Amino acid sequence: MSLIVQKYGGTSVGDTDRIMNVARRIKGFVDDGHKVVVVVSARSGVTNDLIARAKTLNPEPDEREMDMLLAVGEQETIALTAMALDSLGVRAVSRTGAQAGIITDEAHTRARITEITGGDIKKCLDENKVVIVAGFQGVDKTGNVTTLGRGGSDLSAIALAAALKADLCQIYTDVSGIYTADPRIVTSARKISEMSYEELLEMASMGSKVMQARSVEFAQKHNVVFEVKSSFNNEPGTIVKSEAPSLEDVVISGVAVDRNQTKVTVSEIPDKPGTAAEIFQKLGEAGIVVDMIVQNISRGGKANLTFTVSKDDASKAERVLDNVCKTLRGSNVCITGDIAKVSVVGTGMRSHSGVAAKFFRTLAANNINIQVITTSEIKISVGISLDDAEKAVNALHSAFELDK
Ligand code: ADP
Ligand code: ASP
Ligand code: MG
Repeated sequence: MSLIVQKYGGTSVGDTDRIMNVARRIKGFVDDGHKVVVVVSARSGVTNDLIARAKTLNPEPDEREMDMLLAVGEQETIALTAMALDSLGVRAVSRTGAQAGIITDEAHTRARITEITGGDIKKCLDENKVVIVAGFQGVDKTGNVTTLGRGGSDLSAIALAAALKADLCQIYTDVSGIYTADPRIVTSARKISEMSYEELLEMASMGSKVMQARSVEFAQKHNVVFEVKSSFNNEPGTIVKSEAPSLEDVVISGVAVDRNQTKVTVSEIPDKPGTAAEIFQKLGEAGIVVDMIVQNISRGGKANLTFTVSKDDASKAERVLDNVCKTLRGSNVCITGDIAKVSVVGTGMRSHSGVAAKFFRTLAANNINIQVITTSEIKISVGISLDDAEKAVNALHSAFELDK
């Protein structure tokens, strides 16, 4: 008998038939004698709809109220999943994030988990009940509902697996594992059988939304081994753990694309020490994460600073920067539109030369213009037009022979 934590994403619980499919899958594990804790997401599209509805009323909704609203999506699915299990004769109870003792800080819409008490989960398991926990949500120490950032149900599952010392953590989704690129964009993408936290973290941070980046970071810190697999078939998925020796000779492990970036330019800023610090300090205080950054050569004592932020933060960034510009006389803010960030990722890059050359040659051969560049030891990313994203991902995937 094992204790298994399973997470089912939005598509897997997208309608009542799919919820019943999930319930049957869970029943299979219960019948085999396992204890099961299940984390579910909101039905696919529900969180997006709730955000859109909020924004029609207020373009910058209060974040506490936003969390109150967004938590609704997962609350629907926990109850429906418990009902589906009950109809199959499996005893099950639903728990909100607060009831499951998922305690977070007060950073609404992007809260960090500070503690997991588990509430009465252990007691329920001892009574042979399946416990269905609402993903994505927690509670701060004063009782306010919080959420853990988009894709946060992954984090709920990994954190519960760590806290409950589960024997197995399974992340069920709508693809059969983690691939060398999004299989919906690159038809020749290959499933990776094992990969390291480090590599997946870089891919997730670069926009492969198959796992939330923060959840991978948490898994790495607490050494939670997990498997990403499909809820629609029984194929083996991708095992993620600290070492994945099979990948060591591989230079590039995958190509990622993030279509959720907006390019912001602050122009005519005084070219003197402390200006960039002032700009990024104010953005940081507003909770805005800045991604790719370039500063051009100054002319006449003035410079331009270009960077990207998440599309969701664009209007907030504009407001913050308008204020900063008032103190930096003569400077202007310009939101220059949405771009795609395309990255190649691989720990093998550390010890191989020529990766950058091949990367840029491939984009050039496909007539793709680069707007922003950023690199780390194990990745190269560029900001390009959204229209070029699919072409770039496919071209890089074959140039690096990821389909072989
Ligand atoms: P869930 O609702 O189960 O959390 P998500 O939509 O968040 O699922 O993540 C799964 C999706 O991630 C897939 O449908 C796929 O389109 C996308 N994806 C992006 N990059 C990859 C990749 N490298 N491997 C697998 N899936 C990927
Ligand atoms: N429902 C939330 C979202 O769409 C959390 C999740 O699905 O993991 O971001
Ligand atoms: Mg997800």
